[in-house]
Amino acid sequence: MQETKRTKTRCRCCGHRFPVGKRCPNCQFPVYIVFEQEDSKLNAKAEQYYAEHKDQIVVAAGIIFNEPARWDGDQLVPGKQSYLELANLEQMSEEFQWAEQVEFASFGRGEDANLRIFLEHADGSNDERTVPIKLPPVRGVTWKAAIRINEACDGVEFAVGVPERYTTTEAVKFCD
Ligand SMILES: [Zn+2]
Repeated sequence: MQETKRTKTRCRCCGHRFPVGKRCPNCQFPVYIVFEQEDSKLNAKAEQYYAEHKDQIVVAAGIIFNEPARWDGDQLVPGKQSYLELANLEQMSEEFQWAEQVEFASFGRGEDANLRIFLEHADGSNDERTVPIKLPPVRGVTWKAAIRINEACDGVEFAVGVPERYTTTEAVKFCD
């Protein structure tokens, strides 16, 4: 089977790569075709747009999880909520990238579950969402999480399991 690599445009505003279109699916900055002499003018416009839309431009994404509860003397202290960034937008590709930092205890198989995820914006704010996923059909091992850009490049998909066997979420769109 032959792989065809589609031509992609790099957004002048946020740096996101996407198949040729009218606007960047991440920040909505329009795609302009300009002559060299207008280049600096357009870059200034892109910079201004970026500054004005920092609260909407996605720069990274990851998962939210609770660390295991622990005993402190005779007190059971609930695990704190953690944010694990899986990749920034620049690093993401259409192949799943597996996080090496964190492993999860496996539980259940093929059941419906919810994955809590976040999209981080350029101003540091997080868009938190809950997305359904089936628990991966693997047992006796720990799971990892992975992320990739979806085919249309207007969102990300998450995977849970091991690189050989995993389940995935639907695409989580940047703008929803
Ligand atoms: Zn953009």
